[in-house]
Amino acid sequence: MYHIPPTPHGLELNCKGWQQEGIYRMLLNSLDEDVAENPQELVVYGGAGKAVRDYPALVNTLRALRSLDGDETLLIQSGKPVAVFQTQPLAPRVIISSSWLVPHWATWEVFWELEKEGLTSYGQATASSWAYIGAQGTLQATADTFSGAAEEFGGSLAGRLVLSSGLGGLGSAQPLAVEMNGGVAIIVEVDEVKIRRRLRTNYCQIAVNTLDEALAEAGEALKKKVPLSIALHGNAADVYPEMLARGIIPDVVTDQTAAHDLLEGYVPSGLSVGEAAKLRKEDPCLYIQLALESICRHVTAMLEMKRRGAIVFELGNNLREQALRGGIEDAFIIPSYSTLYLRSSFCKGRGSFRWIALSGEPADIYRIDNALLKEFAHDKQLKRWIEFAQQRIPFQGLPARACWLQYEQREPFARLLNEMVQKGSLKAPVAITRCQLDGGSVSSPLRETESMLDGSDAIADWPVLSALLHAATGATCVSLSHGGGVGIGYSVHAGMTVVVDGSVEIANRLEQVLMVDPAMSIIRFADAGYDVSKKLAATHGLGLGTS
Ligand code: NAD
Repeated sequence: MYHIPPTPHGLELNCKGWQQEGIYRMLLNSLDEDVAENPQELVVYGGAGKAVRDYPALVNTLRALRSLDGDETLLIQSGKPVAVFQTQPLAPRVIISSSWLVPHWATWEVFWELEKEGLTSYGQATASSWAYIGAQGTLQATADTFSGAAEEFGGSLAGRLVLSSGLGGLGSAQPLAVEMNGGVAIIVEVDEVKIRRRLRTNYCQIAVNTLDEALAEAGEALKKKVPLSIALHGNAADVYPEMLARGIIPDVVTDQTAAHDLLEGYVPSGLSVGEAAKLRKEDPCLYIQLALESICRHVTAMLEMKRRGAIVFELGNNLREQALRGGIEDAFIIPSYSTLYLRSSFCKGRGSFRWIALSGEPADIYRIDNALLKEFAHDKQLKRWIEFAQQRIPFQGLPARACWLQYEQREPFARLLNEMVQKGSLKAPVAITRCQLDGGSVSSPLRETESMLDGSDAIADWPVLSALLHAATGATCVSLSHGGGVGIGYSVHAGMTVVVDGSVEIANRLEQVLMVDPAMSIIRFADAGYDVSKKLAATHGLGLGTS
């Protein structure tokens, strides 16, 4: 058993300043047992997404952060601390590069070989950048997705059945997101431990062991048009075809197993979680073959449900590409949730934003909620979200709030936060970061940048520019990762965290740091030819207006 120190709370510093302390707490928070999916393996979420490469790397990183001066920068190479450089006070305190391979060699097979040699580690997106805050982090994107689907039914999922699978780190946002839209969710999950965890944390209402029980519970709720979430213990590759065989076509169908990683993320039909773990070690080739066969059955059922009228989409896990690899040639008839439901937000620079109370005190988050609601009193969508979050979203680890904000909202919000820390209205500084499901800091041709207007899906310069700009504007931690979400070879993400410590130094650069994400989102989509982004770029004086 590894000893992972608890996340420090309160005002006592372990590091030489709040900038370093904030990142130190974010790292430990991402490995907190209420936050991470498997902290003993250092796995945070998303299949095998790790915060650090191994236990010695964790110990060395914590030690390096404790002794890091305010004019030095710590370098992390795929989960391992490699150097501290003398830089300057306005430079990032930590720079992270995760899971990169030179493009010609960027395949899972090469990656696993190198990982076995101890040379790299799989960092997902927010795992390796220490910005993960639990299922809440992806809840708004998932809720916006189901709300987009609800538009097909007049704006609500009341009386509608949603079928999905996977109740892992991010997948567990699904049942709550369906309920938020008034619908009934059956979510298939192969691991009983995950199901118990989601019941305990209120992300899911009830659990059953058979499809008959699930359908009976769902039937009652659908008749009464009341929201309900049901976790069904089983394998998606069995349950989807079984529903089809019974002639049951849900209104909405998707999936959020960690299918991007055939070896670590998808459990083949016929194996328990324990048997899967054993086979994975003993015969990885056979495991991958069985996982692919199961995914093909799973996706074949989804395609047939689509033909029979269901709204079917992929939820960011590369399921379609795996099915294609397994021989399902029409897998891409299924669209991506990102193009269907999130692109319009990205075009406008609206996107993920989250803040974490480094004090460890929930009261700090409630104080920020109140200030936010006062500052943006006219924003009804924001008000609804914060009120819902207060009632239904449990804190995991350090208290945090995730909330998508528009371009114009970031600067006043940042100013407000820094003033609150400075005046002592909050017990301690706050970290601001975001999800890496984002408009301007991601290149992911099977997700955020699928089917771009100008065909620039695979152009990967944008996240690189985003990371460089975050370093230039003085974010506290800047990261650039490969393979998050959809897997090695398929995506590039940039991440950032800034510690709002109430100081004049931070006040002077916060506005620039927080403008990078929404501005890059608008510029990226304007450059690709989206009219709404071009207009916004012109209105806000962003970009050079040459596209
Ligand atoms: P996770 O590894 O924590 O959870 C995956 C879950 O799927 C596990 O609980 C596992 O037991 C279950 N599972 C695996 N095979 C199954 C099967 N055949 N039938 C039923 N259940 C099965 O992963 P996560 O953090 O929940 O992420 C899920 C996927 O979403 C990943 O591929 C991730 O990269 C992707 N992702 C999505 C978003 C988004 O916002 N939509 C963002 C980032 C990543």
